[in-house]
Amino acid sequence: MLNPPPDLFSYRRHWAHKFGPAPFLPMSRDEMDLLGWDSCDIIIVSGDAYVDHPSFGMAVIGRVLEAQGFRVGIIAQPDWTSAGAFTTLGRPNLYFGVTAGNMDSMVNRYTADRRLRSDDAYTPDGEGGRRPDRAVIVYAQRCREAFNDVPVIIGGIEASLRRIAHFDYWQEKVRRSVLIDAKADMLLFGNAERAIVELSHRLAGGQHITQIDDLRGTAFVRRQTPQDWTEIDSTTLDEPGRVDAHPDPYRDTARAGPAEDSTGPRRQDPADTAQVVTLHTRPKGQDRTRQVVRLPGFEAVRDDPVLYAHASRLLHLESNPGNARALVQRHGNREVWINPPPIPLRTPELDRVFELPYQRVPHPAYGGARIPAYEMIRFSVNIMRGCFGGCSFCSITEHEGRIIQNRSEQSILREIEQIRDQTPGFTGVISDLGGPTANMWRLHCKDPKIESSCRRLSCVHPGICPNLNTDQMPLVRLYRKARDLPGIKRILIASGLRYDIAVETPEYVRELVTHHVGGYLKIAPEHTESGPLSKMMKPGMGTYDRFKAMFDKYSKQAGKEQYLIPYFIAAHPGTTDEDMLNLALWLKRNGFRADQVQAFLPSPMALATAMWHSGRNPLKKIARGSETVLSAKGRRQRRIHKAFLRYHDPNNWPLLRDTLKSMGRADLIGNGKRHLIPSFQPAGTGGRPEGTRLPARKSNGKGNFRTQHTRGSRKPPQSRKRR
Ligand code: SF4
Repeated sequence: MLNPPPDLFSYRRHWAHKFGPAPFLPMSRDEMDLLGWDSCDIIIVSGDAYVDHPSFGMAVIGRVLEAQGFRVGIIAQPDWTSAGAFTTLGRPNLYFGVTAGNMDSMVNRYTADRRLRSDDAYTPDGEGGRRPDRAVIVYAQRCREAFNDVPVIIGGIEASLRRIAHFDYWQEKVRRSVLIDAKADMLLFGNAERAIVELSHRLAGGQHITQIDDLRGTAFVRRQTPQDWTEIDSTTLDEPGRVDAHPDPYRDTARAGPAEDSTGPRRQDPADTAQVVTLHTRPKGQDRTRQVVRLPGFEAVRDDPVLYAHASRLLHLESNPGNARALVQRHGNREVWINPPPIPLRTPELDRVFELPYQRVPHPAYGGARIPAYEMIRFSVNIMRGCFGGCSFCSITEHEGRIIQNRSEQSILREIEQIRDQTPGFTGVISDLGGPTANMWRLHCKDPKIESSCRRLSCVHPGICPNLNTDQMPLVRLYRKARDLPGIKRILIASGLRYDIAVETPEYVRELVTHHVGGYLKIAPEHTESGPLSKMMKPGMGTYDRFKAMFDKYSKQAGKEQYLIPYFIAAHPGTTDEDMLNLALWLKRNGFRADQVQAFLPSPMALATAMWHSGRNPLKKIARGSETVLSAKGRRQRRIHKAFLRYHDPNNWPLLRDTLKSMGRADLIGNGKRHLIPSFQPAGTGGRPEGTRLPARKSNGKGNFRTQHTRGSRKPPQSRKRR
């Protein structure tokens, strides 16, 4: 069981609290002067525009630190080509806090096919090109150039998910921990409130950053494992077989020369191939809080995909704050040390985090510019954090944890009233009451002791764990109370729904369908075939059918004509051409036409990315001879997988005809109902060169829709967005 940490807001406030909360956290010296500040205690550098709203990371961390009494300034989307913009607010008294923003900068800037995006939802007027690639590294370096004696602390999703050696899809290679490349003093991972509050008070109290090595949710570089710690070789916990590449952590690497060159593959140093040290294995009777699991080093995982998959699996197995141990991974002659994950916030703490004095609008410096990400969430309320689904292609579980952190009902209702009373342009419609998932609020493991010792990667795969409380009646009551608030005309649910959980509480499905669906409900089966579904850790289509039956029944009872809009992923690891063909046939049978296609994007640290890179399945024990996983990596095969999802697009028919013939399924080419694609080619189609984008749809002012339902539908869906 976890020892409860101090309440987030119980610390003695820093002396500067006497200045009081700032209307907006300052972005210029003039604003600092107006506030009477001679300096900032902490400066946050962010790749996103500053929106003072609890959905934006820099605002949350800034306001949390302000509530602790610190003066916090913001440098948002600075010109990174020199250090000039990083001196705008002067020298911070305590540290620079660096984040790429709400998204990994590479995911933000490039498509799944590695094409540069022209837009950026987190930038005024959606303008692209306002942040660098791998923004954390670039910003951290500029902070150092600006004031080289000021500690640099990195955090946010980019730093969090790149904390150990990781596969970078855009360079197609394993990169070092971002801590090494950014030369940062410390990395905060996951939801960082606890760590950053404690860290800030300690630094303000005179401790040096190098003295702080005991905070959960932090990672840093050290030379060696301290004497009073016991190392456990990760390969003894989850044995991958012969470990040729396992390095000797005590070898004098100084004599072997620098090994952390990230510029390209380096062959294994012969000294690394001998296992000259036997590490401690599963020491009994020793203090778990002094045990550290040694992962194979950077050079080993870089050169050996099996060890890479093993390290990825171990990282995920050591992610439950109730039982996770520290991890250490050698990079050349340095050790990247990762403390156990943060302890989730309790409900009163999360309430306070959400109820800090946010202005709920972009900083006035942006004038009337439209920031698309803000437009999307300005009328929505985040009711929780975390996800216990563990979908292997998604990193939310890795970042926010599997334990759901809930806001209280009262706090959520207060925020709805605040939106009603303060947010410009509110018309009475709340666009979402959700979070990472729509329907995990207040769901939890039935026993805290079991929860703290659990090492499952998901609470709902391969089936719903019998220990999971799936009662969604509290959520039903919340919806009802929210609808009853004066001035609220409608509450929509736009976050992704876990329909396998939803069906456990039929009353919830009825409430949702009767009151909270705007004609179309998006859900994400992601595939129809068991091969890819098992690699995604998603439920089978039987659950989808069960949910659809309920959805149709309750829609009929409510006298509403409503449709489910399913979403799918092309080219996920473990997907064969036959799987995609079967999915296309299912889409045709059920009358769906995908308007846009989502192809798998191997994002840092996701388990599916480890499958993609290593060809192994880290959902299971990794061994040299264990299950291999094939991925559609080549350009042509990815095109084929995407083309199957849009089988109705004539531009895809020539490619699909060739593919069906080579698969021995020419019987599916023809002009009857049983055929997937016709044998004729409409004039002017089929010649669109690869990579050409579809012409943009005319906006209806309510967003884009992505999948059309053609069966019995009188009109297309009006508004679709995807979490
Ligand atoms: S025991 Fe089951 S419900 Fe509890 S944390 Fe583990 S997987 Fe989730």
